Amino acid sequence: MPAKPPAGAGRRKAAPKEAVEEAVKEAAKESVKASAKPCPICGKPASAASRPFCSERCRDVDLNRWLSNSYAIPAAKDDDEDAE
Ligand SMILES: [Zn+2]
Repeated sequence: MPAKPPAGAGRRKAAPKEAVEEAVKEAAKESVKASAKPCPICGKPASAASRPFCSERCRDVDLNRWLSNSYAIPAAKDDDEDAE
């Protein structure tokens, strides 16, 4: 006796019209998101008030990163003088 093909095999046709429309809508949303620059800290869409960040909080986070980076470089060099 011939083996039955698994249920649903060969029945996958093109997605129903509804699903296609939904996918098109989602794609449009994504392209809008991509054109607006996201917050470099958390990746959320930036707000006009605190561009390029999404909020003042993220702006402070970025500022603190810059400050701690610029302090870290001379501090490492000072350690060298203690070596002797
Ligand atoms: Zn943010």
